[in-house]
Amino acid sequence: MSSAPHTPAAPEEGTTKPSNFLRQIIEHDLAKGTYASRRWAGSPGDAAHHASASHDPAKIRTRFPPEPNGYLHIGHAKSICLNFGLARDYDGVCHLRFDDTNPEKEDTEYVDSIIDAVKWLGFDWAQIGQAPGSAAPYQASDYFDFMYRAAEALIERGHAYVDEQSPEEMRTNRGDFSRPGIDSPYRSRTPAENLARFREMRDGKLADGAAVLRAKIAMDSPNINLRDPAIYRIRRATHHNTGDQWCIYPMYTFAHPIEDALEQITHSICTLEFEDQRPFYDWLLERLIEAGLLAAPAPHQYEFARLNLTYVITSKRKLAQLVNEGKVSGWDDPRMPTIVGLRRRGYTPTALQLFAERIGVTKSDSWIDYSTLEGCLREDLESQAHRGMAVLDPVKLVLTNWDEVMGAGHLEPCSLPALPHVPEGQPEPAAREFTIGKEVWIEREDFEEVPPKGYKRLFPGNKVRLKGGYVIECTGCERDAAGQVTEVHALLVPDTKSGTPGADSVKVKAAITWVGVADGVAAEIRLYDRLFSDAHPDAGGKDFLGSLNPDSLKVVTGYVEPSLAHAEPDQKFQFERHGYFVADRQDHVKGQPVFNRAVGLKDSWGK
Ligand code: ATP
Ligand code: MG
Repeated sequence: MSSAPHTPAAPEEGTTKPSNFLRQIIEHDLAKGTYASRRWAGSPGDAAHHASASHDPAKIRTRFPPEPNGYLHIGHAKSICLNFGLARDYDGVCHLRFDDTNPEKEDTEYVDSIIDAVKWLGFDWAQIGQAPGSAAPYQASDYFDFMYRAAEALIERGHAYVDEQSPEEMRTNRGDFSRPGIDSPYRSRTPAENLARFREMRDGKLADGAAVLRAKIAMDSPNINLRDPAIYRIRRATHHNTGDQWCIYPMYTFAHPIEDALEQITHSICTLEFEDQRPFYDWLLERLIEAGLLAAPAPHQYEFARLNLTYVITSKRKLAQLVNEGKVSGWDDPRMPTIVGLRRRGYTPTALQLFAERIGVTKSDSWIDYSTLEGCLREDLESQAHRGMAVLDPVKLVLTNWDEVMGAGHLEPCSLPALPHVPEGQPEPAAREFTIGKEVWIEREDFEEVPPKGYKRLFPGNKVRLKGGYVIECTGCERDAAGQVTEVHALLVPDTKSGTPGADSVKVKAAITWVGVADGVAAEIRLYDRLFSDAHPDAGGKDFLGSLNPDSLKVVTGYVEPSLAHAEPDQKFQFERHGYFVADRQDHVKGQPVFNRAVGLKDSWGK
């Protein structure tokens, strides 16, 4: 309850962000002027395109390059916060780039959702401080012409050849960690022969898989990625952007460095599994700068550890499986670790930015505890989310002396503050107004006919306060044939209304939450829990579907006070004693409330 509100986007005066190895590299490059000579023609392009332009107003350029084949998840959020955050902090710009060189699956649904996710997280590519930023989003497939030209240049300079070994032969002849590779019989073709053959590949004269273009580096390199990697393959597929213009497509390892260079990226930040690709990244860009095709200095690749979060899977393919097999209601199911899912669950951009900042960036893989993510949401909502009372497991409480004391049918207005502590500089929100009458809803667990030891809530003879209302004294209950309590009975203690003089004259040991029967509104409340019961659901190739938590969603009908019932969709609240809840973005309608539990009040993950 005591933690200060945290605003990661705007650190307080005098505080600095925790440093990390990437910040150190960037600060070093800025001090040395590594990229000071760069020019920027206002759009991506080759050496000639940038040559006559003026100096790049962006001190650094980073990029976030998702493949538009699914919805972004919490791992991507880490990468977005990192890349856009660094650009923001160092007067740079971060390019959103769709890595759509693979003609397979691509969908405008995914493209739109990615743009939405980046903007929702609070980032922009159109501005560098006050200056115009980039015209992103860029599409890697717009660079196909250049990539083809780069491939021909490599061939002409003896740096690439068309290999027509079978895929099996290529695999065998690549060797392994203990065995050097064996040169392909096609490796000694002349540039002229290779050029002619490559053009035949392009012109559709060869079948899919009949040949590949390979970089000519070294078949005995200790780094297997340098053993003449394939850079173009034949694949007859219609591309969403270029249609049937191409039947050859660049390999990712060839396309990616070129995309970075055309966009004048300075710091190309990726996850650790690409570390072994870095020598090829550098080799390729050096060759193309030598050939005069790309502007120097070349971008440089840096690797950081991907996010691994307990109880969560972060693979678009596996998340797609959950959606396609109906294990969840969709990409935005509030149990999904997708950005749309987290958003629907009640996560805020501030909470996700805070999370990214708190976990930092490192060079070694580790697991982050799910409670860290939840802690960030609590920290953001604690000072912001308006309070409200909701009864999730309702039983009716009847104040049997109400008619006598207050008058039959009387409803007494009550009010409580929306926030217990208003953050400095924020206006005080209007108080919540509700009424108390003869009947109110209380939590079933707040009554015990025979109280267990230490029980302080309702039992015959005991007094409690109805929070924000009156002190009441319990007299008993009614049960149905099955023994289930159907009504709890109590007497109103007059002159004890909260906020009136004398309210404290009667001492009680507990205050309970409640909602008036007259003005409370029935609400669908979705109680979410972790989607998997295994902390590492897909580690070591495990079948993650085997550890789906059967109780990850429980839907109850409860009652909420009027201020909650008339919430806007997406508005977040603290339901007193129950946790943080959000009015569902899809299904909540004012007056017909639907709430999702975002997170409990306390960390329950360790238990
Ligand atoms: P997936 O395997 O889920 O498809 P991906 O890495 O193939 O993930 P891309 O769309 O290619 O997905 O990723 C875009 C960017 O997001 C990449 O630069 C990648 O490094 C980063 N990224 C993806 N997953 C994570 C993660 N778990 N932690 C940090 N960064 C990630
Ligand atoms: Mg991928």
